[in-house]
Amino acid sequence: MTAHPDATQTVLDACRTLAGFTTTPGSITRLFLTPPMHDVHAFLTDWAQRLGMSTRIDAAGNLRARWEGTGPNAPTLYLGSHLDTVPNAGAYDGILGVVLGFALVEALGGVRLPFALEVLGFSEEEGVRYGVPFFGSRALLGRAGPMLKMRDAGGQTLQEALNEFGLEAGALPSAELTGEALGYFEIHIEQGPVLEAAGQSVGVVEAIAGQNRFDLTFTGRASHAGTTPMPLRRDALAAAARFVVAAEDLARATPGLVATVGMMEVKPGAGNVIPGEVACSLDIRHARDEVRLAVLPGLLASAEGFAEERGVTLTVRPKMEEQATPMHPQFRALLHQAAADVGLPHPELVSGAGHDAMVMATRMPAAMLFVRSPGGLSHHPDEAVLAGDVADALAVGGRFLQLLAAQAGSTGGKHGL
Ligand SMILES: [Zn+2]
Repeated sequence: MTAHPDATQTVLDACRTLAGFTTTPGSITRLFLTPPMHDVHAFLTDWAQRLGMSTRIDAAGNLRARWEGTGPNAPTLYLGSHLDTVPNAGAYDGILGVVLGFALVEALGGVRLPFALEVLGFSEEEGVRYGVPFFGSRALLGRAGPMLKMRDAGGQTLQEALNEFGLEAGALPSAELTGEALGYFEIHIEQGPVLEAAGQSVGVVEAIAGQNRFDLTFTGRASHAGTTPMPLRRDALAAAARFVVAAEDLARATPGLVATVGMMEVKPGAGNVIPGEVACSLDIRHARDEVRLAVLPGLLASAEGFAEERGVTLTVRPKMEEQATPMHPQFRALLHQAAADVGLPHPELVSGAGHDAMVMATRMPAAMLFVRSPGGLSHHPDEAVLAGDVADALAVGGRFLQLLAAQAGSTGGKHGL
């Protein structure tokens, strides 16, 4: 099961070929249920069949390829990631994890494990087309039904899009998982600069960060910049600016916390007019919900204070709240051991971005391995991976399967989790 140099090249070549399946020649854009997804399915189905796997495209458009285990009632280890991309994407976000799933099956060389492997290529993770992410993984858990009525920018419902793609929206429940699940394992590029800064090729994900997002509106009074003395102003931007700095100060002072004001709209937006209204965003994330939720009220109260000091009113609208998703302790421990066994350092890091593993973790033990992102770049055409890092990911993934197999074997076919 050790990674072979050819295996690394196979992975890189596959990612390069799959990057060519796009709606915009010259760049990579492959949204949910768009025609290039058929080409992706065909390429991966062909590979799976050459490996002797059984394949199907389920009713949610997910690619599912199975390598059966020993015995008819073997539990299933799911491994994979997503096939869709953001507009003008890179060649590795999501797809690398799917391709590595096939490469890990290939590395078995025909050997059966005490559990089945099912490689998953999720149809939709990014949430670009319908504005809500994780349709593919939600469908596996029977939670995608309410999304069928959503409309894309062109007015087409998700239900209509499924049918147009050649699927049957009415059969969506047939995509649900059946049988005993051993767990879910996803390899994904880090999409950030942490592993690169640490000089490491791969890392074990500790948790996927929980997050809150808000829209804030500071409402003061627009007036003449020359004639309105400072004590008589109600400057909405001055209040908002204090808030931006307070968010940054808080995050810098709280280990692991990230807080971002990424959007700000100033009205009326003229150099000689005191800002009367500022709309801005807040995005705040941490690996542990209790940390995020402990500091959030204080930050919002400080915004209220900065507003009040200036005769400005503040409205805060919650936009979303996602709980943190810790990865499964025993799976994490096995990943650490797998990395140690193949002679690699194995730092632990938090995923600031959401992943299908968040959804899968609500049903079964889940673990993620991150692969270094050169330059920390992702959701960008220059997104890259290093060949040596892909080889490391293959080695760790292969060893992880061996360790799981040994564990399953020692518990009489039961997974002992
Ligand atoms: Zn991704």
